[in-house]
Amino acid sequence: MKIIPYGKQCIDNLDIAEVIKVLKSDWITQGSKISEFEAALAKYCGVKHAVAVSSGTAALHAAMNAIGISPGDEVIVPPITFAASANCIVYQGGTPVFSDVESSTLLLDPKKVESKITQNTKAIIAVDYAGQPCDYGSLRRIASKHSLALVSDACHALGAKYKGQRSGSLADLTIFSFHPVKHITTGEGGMIVTDNMDYVDCMRIFRNHGITADTHQRKKQGSWVYEMVNLGYNYRITDFQSALGNSQLQKLPQFLQRRRAIARKYDKAFTLSSKITPLIVNANVFHAYHLYVVKIDFKVLGIDKASLFTSLQEKGVAVNVHYMPVYLHPFYRNKFNSKLGLCPIAEAVYEQIISLPIFPNMTDEDVNYVIENVLNLVK
Ligand SMILES: *Cc1c(COP(=O)(O)O)cnc(C)c1O
Repeated sequence: MKIIPYGKQCIDNLDIAEVIKVLKSDWITQGSKISEFEAALAKYCGVKHAVAVSSGTAALHAAMNAIGISPGDEVIVPPITFAASANCIVYQGGTPVFSDVESSTLLLDPKKVESKITQNTKAIIAVDYAGQPCDYGSLRRIASKHSLALVSDACHALGAKYKGQRSGSLADLTIFSFHPVKHITTGEGGMIVTDNMDYVDCMRIFRNHGITADTHQRKKQGSWVYEMVNLGYNYRITDFQSALGNSQLQKLPQFLQRRRAIARKYDKAFTLSSKITPLIVNANVFHAYHLYVVKIDFKVLGIDKASLFTSLQEKGVAVNVHYMPVYLHPFYRNKFNSKLGLCPIAEAVYEQIISLPIFPNMTDEDVNYVIENVLNLVK
């Protein structure tokens, strides 16, 4: 039986040819493709600088390091996200402070963010859930008023816009992931974009073991001299991955167009159903549709989520749930003593959400097949 996954990469022969070119060259890791990829993504986002790293998670970690998160610091983050959005704070010894989401969009509720700010708060991580940018107007005002760094986890939102402005240009630092289910892929990979050169310098050193490549110093002391100035990591991306990323980026407009067309088909089908409620799209955004999420009130329907899941899986429709509130994971319960009730909206909505398949190579027949089966099961 054919399985329709919830997300999948779209790689063609042009992509493959670009990767092979690099594999046949002398430089397969730190060659020119990385800076080409960085420059292309920065330009696309309308920002000055970009730093490519080995994953979206490494990008989040580098961002937390660049803004100086350290033990005792608090960072506000929404609970409905991938664990990495909060883990990056913990890597630096900081404390994630979970702030509840709006139930119609699952985006950070700015009013609640403000109530979570203490003397120890250093930053806000906004997550553009499913591909919809957060309310950056309000978040920016709050961040400025309290002198906080505003970081955007836009791993779902490459190509999205808020009030006509591209994701990447909406926060002090913005993080993208190139995991295969995301908009463009490099296998594993990530990028941080920013206008702040100090952050860039810090992150370039951080991704390379904390080693400086200061050419002035090398001239003075001999070309063999390098110094490790901070504790860093090996978070480098390779040149052949960057070649893939460059090639994929050319096709991003097409990918976005297809994702949005699929979303419109779903929207149209589900407006007729009283049982299925798609998330709300705010008027001032261009949604990038990494995910297509619907809410189903299982209690009212009298069916349970597990049986809907199994039934869809039996039909080859591999739905998913994004996400369980992060603080309910055993690690967070144990380390931070977090408990049920911390973010009531996130907890209630978690019981209702399902992500339906959406990816550029999905055919209209696939979409119709998903719609048919979903509607059939909630009847
Ligand atoms: C995918 C994702 C990440 C992590 O990216 P990786 O490249 O898989 O490390 C972080 N945050 C969000 C919201 C994501 O969807």
